Amino acid sequence: MQNRRLRILSYVVIAYMLIAFLWWSVLLYTKNKDAFRAKAELLKIVLIAKDQIKDDETFKKTEAYQDLYRKYRHHEWMIFGEAVVFVISLVIGLYLINRAYGREMDAALNRRNFLLSITHELKSPIASIRLILETFLKRNLKKEQTDKLSGNALKEADRLNTLVNDLLLAARMETAYKPNLESMRLDAFLKEIVEKLRSKYPNSNFRLKLHDDLPAIEADRLGMTSVALNLLENAVKYSFDQAEIEVNLSKKDGKLYWETSDRGTGIPDEEKKKVFDRFYRVGNEDTRKTKGTGLGLYIVKEIIQAHEGVITILDNKPKGTIFKIALPCASY
Ligand code: ADP
Repeated sequence: MQNRRLRILSYVVIAYMLIAFLWWSVLLYTKNKDAFRAKAELLKIVLIAKDQIKDDETFKKTEAYQDLYRKYRHHEWMIFGEAVVFVISLVIGLYLINRAYGREMDAALNRRNFLLSITHELKSPIASIRLILETFLKRNLKKEQTDKLSGNALKEADRLNTLVNDLLLAARMETAYKPNLESMRLDAFLKEIVEKLRSKYPNSNFRLKLHDDLPAIEADRLGMTSVALNLLENAVKYSFDQAEIEVNLSKKDGKLYWETSDRGTGIPDEEKKKVFDRFYRVGNEDTRKTKGTGLGLYIVKEIIQAHEGVITILDNKPKGTIFKIALPCASY
């Protein structure tokens, strides 16, 4: 609301400045013309008195009149030029205010959505774990029931842990993230991660395509774990039914290419850049059905950039998304 008022006020001030300036420009223009006419009249009287001219035609050809005329035209151009520069500056100012306002509104909306989702994301595993513990206290359960409930409680605790880690990592990204580099075989690392996810998501189908002779890279293991988990868990999350996920690792021209593709909902072109913004979630029905905070891809992008890599989003055919990461590698 405050912002809206400020924006309206700045528009009013700009409009007032524009009208005032136009008014002053017109006034200056006519005054310049009047001054020129008066000076020319005076000059004419002087030249007639000196008997140097006979009529208007000879007067306009004199050096003194030409000089006066040149100065008049020069002033006219000056007024015109300054008016143009001023109007352009105002228009640019208006555009910048508008853009900053739009960004501020988007950021505020993202922050509000984030607060809503984070409250839900934090509360729901706590409530589940609490309920499970209460059930343990109140009832004498059989071994299978205890095992099942304990498994659920562990899953919820894991969810909470991932969320808190994401929050801490995102906070660190803002200020102090520096990758803790070590030599890493990304192929072996991805094999390990995919193996864990296969047992966590038994309904999803993970395929790994690792090219031969892939070199080791210098990377932060914790950071890469976060990248892999965010991308792969998103692939599961936004596929809804049986997820078909492919991880492809190859090398070309001194770079390691790591692609994660799914056959899920896909990301519309106009959202492909925005999804890397902090707290941003695509505002469609599919996303609303899922849990999330809009932090994952922000963290992924920051980590990849800290490794001097680039991440892009492509469309998978016939549907789905491909996240393509290019990372520099020393030996190839
Ligand atoms: P979250 O998943 O917590 O919402 P992310 O930062 O991981 O946050 O993703 C941002 C948004 O990008 C998601 O809300 C979702 O709409 C979209 N998105 C991410 N990954 C995929 C994917 N594999 N397929 C379709 N949409 C995706």
